[in-house]
Amino acid sequence: MDNTIVFYCILFILIAEFILATVMNYLNAQRFKDPIPEDLKDVYNAEEYEKSQAYKLTNYKFGVFTSVFSLVLILSFLLLGGFNYVDNIAQNQTDSIILQALIFFGIIMIGSDFINIPFSYYQTFVIEEKFGFNKTTKATFLTDKLKQWTMTIIVGSIILSLVMWFFQWAGTSFWLYTWALIAIFTLFMNLFYSKLIVPLFNKQKPLEAGTLKEKIEAYAAQVGFDLQNIFVINGSKRSTKANAYFSGFGKEKRVTLYDTLINDLEEEEIVAVLAHEIGHYKRKHIIFNLTSSIVLTGLMLLILSLFINNPEVSLAIGVDRPSFHAALIGFGILYSPISEIIGLLMNYFSRKFEYQADDYAKNTYAALPLVTSLKKLSKNSLSNLTPHPAYVFMHYSHPPLIDRIRNLKA
Ligand SMILES: [Zn+2]
Repeated sequence: MDNTIVFYCILFILIAEFILATVMNYLNAQRFKDPIPEDLKDVYNAEEYEKSQAYKLTNYKFGVFTSVFSLVLILSFLLLGGFNYVDNIAQNQTDSIILQALIFFGIIMIGSDFINIPFSYYQTFVIEEKFGFNKTTKATFLTDKLKQWTMTIIVGSIILSLVMWFFQWAGTSFWLYTWALIAIFTLFMNLFYSKLIVPLFNKQKPLEAGTLKEKIEAYAAQVGFDLQNIFVINGSKRSTKANAYFSGFGKEKRVTLYDTLINDLEEEEIVAVLAHEIGHYKRKHIIFNLTSSIVLTGLMLLILSLFINNPEVSLAIGVDRPSFHAALIGFGILYSPISEIIGLLMNYFSRKFEYQADDYAKNTYAALPLVTSLKKLSKNSLSNLTPHPAYVFMHYSHPPLIDRIRNLKA
């Protein structure tokens, strides 16, 4: 295989993915003004509806601008020899190929994140601010970035060094050891993310005693769910948007409720949201997601091991000499169509699981409070009530509101 062929494959993939995403966004935008389904007529009043239309349009335009910018950036970096330039910097610092890889990825990742700062700043302090969602202060914005970079550098360096060490020591069977490493890391993060990472960014405390806690405990006892950990997190530190999520398993399982959720919803509605989350656990969705992510990582690493020793994969991104780190970048782009397809499949399962969790809440608690809570949450985040089906198929991990409500009412 010739590296110019691989180079054109990479160009083709980047441009094709951009076109596909742009067409999808365009199709979705064509449905912005569709009439709202009868069952959702009570979500917005006239003024809120206007606001939601403006919000969708603003985000759409901003999305077009950022995706064009990203494409131009990556193409010019690729065509003007950006990867080679960074690779030379890394080579000039040290002879250790592990350190070279760390410097290379450090510059690429921090650099691209740095370029993205104006965009995330604009998203937070202009768009979200204008529509009344933003609660993030400039200080929080800055410290969040610094914490994220520190964490990425520490965790990324450890994992990348180990992977390269496996490669030096075991050759192409490095993928098996890497797979074991990432599997253990994934399990560990799933169990301890809430305990170790969340406190770096948010304050969380156990749900206070009171009628809400009593109702939740009564429900958990009724469905035989051993729920020791119900936490409230100060999501209001960054945004007015509300959320709730389930994490961990076994003794480490916990439910986290945003303080914004508790403010926005009635107690019965919160129990219904919680019943939905418990439904995910009871229907083994948590285990399914964890297992499939580990299996898919293994698949990707196996394919990577078949390509890693082909110098063309490195040279295609414009570097002068093949290396493990350049091959990782080349492979990352070449693999992205496969990961897009896997993403479609995972979204498909995820939407199925949402119905199952809704059904669980309906059968063990009640449908009505879940219906009203979903409507309130959609209203408070100015959700799009009329998404294009093709866009839903590609991007939605949750079914559109109208489909969930029809299912709950059925
Ligand atoms: Zn869910």
